[in-house]
Amino acid sequence: MSAKIIDGKGFAAAVRGQVAEHVTRLKADHGITPGLAVVLVGEDPASQVYVASKHKQTVEVGMASFEHTLPADTSEETLFALIDELNADPAVHGILCQFPVPDHLDERRVVARIDPAKDVDGLSVVNAGLLASGEKGLVSCTPLGCLMLLRDQLGNMSGLEAVVIGRSNLFGKPMAQLLLQENCTVTMAHSRTRDLADVCRRADILVAAVGRAEMVQGDWVKPGATVIDVGITRIPHPEKPGKTKLLGDVHFVSAAAVANAITPVPGGVGPMTIACLLANTLTAACRAHGLPEPEGLTA
Ligand code: NAP
Repeated sequence: MSAKIIDGKGFAAAVRGQVAEHVTRLKADHGITPGLAVVLVGEDPASQVYVASKHKQTVEVGMASFEHTLPADTSEETLFALIDELNADPAVHGILCQFPVPDHLDERRVVARIDPAKDVDGLSVVNAGLLASGEKGLVSCTPLGCLMLLRDQLGNMSGLEAVVIGRSNLFGKPMAQLLLQENCTVTMAHSRTRDLADVCRRADILVAAVGRAEMVQGDWVKPGATVIDVGITRIPHPEKPGKTKLLGDVHFVSAAAVANAITPVPGGVGPMTIACLLANTLTAACRAHGLPEPEGLTA
């Protein structure tokens, strides 16, 4: 193995540290406490774990955390009434509805109900449009986290060939937009892409967000490339009965033998998501009060 392993866990801790410093200053200088509201509908166990983790990290950086848990049979009307209340609440700068929501609710309508200025998940059509137009909005957390890792690793990305595998609204499309803003030459690959391995071999920056364990093999990677593995697949642990193990979209050992730098799974991209959620909440709070945005924590 020759590649540098990009320490997303450590980087995320550093981002949270920066956020915490800004929060301390906002409180001291302006009497503002950034606030994040998380809405959970139903009792999905994985969602409960995510929400608990978001709450813990929000409090740790000194922000206010508002948790709203609604029963699984909550009507759209009731959920929208809560979102409207949070939209109007000046103590709330960021609003996130934990997905998936129960089947009778439409995720797109839920996102559309959130004030775009408080849409810290960056999922609304307004924020997607702002990003595509090169204007300031709030950027989806995981691609923002990948951008931070890439900036740290590469500095100037101008002119580099970037290939993003996956074209979801949540990740692939915003990631491609961000790389375009960095002046990369961007290719978006997906399930209909022909000769995917060949396309990947062009990439100075290869970002995989598919959800197919170890799909990207070492011989798909250009020597010296930077590889960002977003995929998460949970499999039964081969050595520990009853336990599970996470695999990325990239075959780590073979890719690390050729790449210059690579994110591991777990401990790479994953921890950056909540860190960027907190960064977005801080950004939203600064904007709401007409204050300068925190440097290095936005796209
Ligand atoms: P998604 O909405 O399911 O999108 C998957 C994308 O992969 C689609 O664009 C699909 O193409 C493409 N694809 C599927 N099979 C392919 C193939 N054989 N070759 C090339 N492309 C293929 O998934 P997502 O939400 O973007 O998430 C992708 C992965 O990233 C998942 O494993 C998810 O768990 C992970 N993820 C992790 C984080 C985190 O670390 N915090 C955050 C977000 C996502 P089509 O559009 O043609 O169907």
